[in-house]
Amino acid sequence: MNNSHTAKLTIFFSLLLIVLSLLLYTKIQLSQKNRKPANHVALNLTIINGELSDKKAIYDELLGHKISSTEIYGLTNSLDKLFDFRTAKPKDSYKLCLNPDKSINKFIYQASPYDVYVAVKTTENAFSTYKEAVYINKVQATKTFTLKSSLYQAIAAGGERDSLANSFADIFSWDIDFFLYPQPGDTIKIYYEKYEKAGELIKYGKVLGAQYIGKEKTFSAFLYNNGKNEAYYDLEGNPLRKMFRKMPLEFGRISSTFNLKRFHPILRRIRPHLGTDYASYYNAPVQATGTGSVSFSGWLGGYGNLVIIRHPNGYETYYGHNSKNLVRTGQQIDQGQTIALVGSTGQSTGPHVHYEVRCRNIPINPSSLKTISLHSLTGNELSNYKQGIEKQVALLNSNKDMVFAKNTQKENNLVKNVFKNIFSMVNKIFIFA
Ligand SMILES: [Zn+2]
Repeated sequence: MNNSHTAKLTIFFSLLLIVLSLLLYTKIQLSQKNRKPANHVALNLTIINGELSDKKAIYDELLGHKISSTEIYGLTNSLDKLFDFRTAKPKDSYKLCLNPDKSINKFIYQASPYDVYVAVKTTENAFSTYKEAVYINKVQATKTFTLKSSLYQAIAAGGERDSLANSFADIFSWDIDFFLYPQPGDTIKIYYEKYEKAGELIKYGKVLGAQYIGKEKTFSAFLYNNGKNEAYYDLEGNPLRKMFRKMPLEFGRISSTFNLKRFHPILRRIRPHLGTDYASYYNAPVQATGTGSVSFSGWLGGYGNLVIIRHPNGYETYYGHNSKNLVRTGQQIDQGQTIALVGSTGQSTGPHVHYEVRCRNIPINPSSLKTISLHSLTGNELSNYKQGIEKQVALLNSNKDMVFAKNTQKENNLVKNVFKNIFSMVNKIFIFA
């Protein structure tokens, strides 16, 4: 026998072995699926579905179902190797199958969608236990939501959860103030990933594309990965995530930096300087360093004439000592827009802008702000991007709610589909005990 002949035989027998294993696996699956319901009917089991309540250990929970303490100890001891009940959390769910004599037949404990533990009664107070293999499908979906009162209301009315609304709001946070902008009748479209177990949502994956269709303007965002990092871009390839500009002035020089132990020239004592001062000339334009909305415009003590702009993600920027403020509270501001004129009002020794950045009201050093800015896509990258989003744009424009890549295989098709399933498994996350 030559080498190629041996190789052919090896391949043939390997394939035969794989086919036989698959058929055996399928047969076991079918017989298990057929047996389970029959068992339940024959034994007349009582099924109790429950959730662990606040401050109640599994022991008390099961006692509440009139299970004897000996049996509960038997159960928890058997499961101990797999799951530490001290880590059990409120809202963990369980399924209790009781025999007609109210003893446990089977107990299933779900610590998370991925962690499901099963205990099956073998002899009196003894259980065989295992961790269930969990199959999670990743699907993609498109959905259109109509806004009546708020973004959250619209997403909930469409049968989705707050976390999807959060992701959506985050993507557009630099362009849309979701407290002010939305109007009844506005439309929201999202193309997103979902992780499902037996058709039930486990969690959301990435938002791949999104649109906000307002009365005057449509905002679009599509996820693009250039091989290094991912970001959202509009239809023209401009990034949605905008960064702060370095300075609130076109020209200026730093006259005082952020310093928590500065000796104050007017007060003549140590007083933290919570921002950066930019010296300039009277009535030079003061420019907003980022898009946002004016949360304050007026006189405030030592700040003199002050403008405060609220930005996404809890950021606020302060522009103090202005000779004149040019904006009013509530006004939407673009990055670079002139909001005031340089002055020396309040506690000030000369014309300058006191520029302060706060995150959730805590002053931070403006120079520590991330200045890595995303550039608009150009050239090859732009054409790749535009080609890539064509299908997504068409899907969103179709206004149809759709779900893709969903595995809708029926039990009696299991044999026929067994090969197909092997391939579709690539798309699944497999978690085995
Ligand atoms: Zn200052």
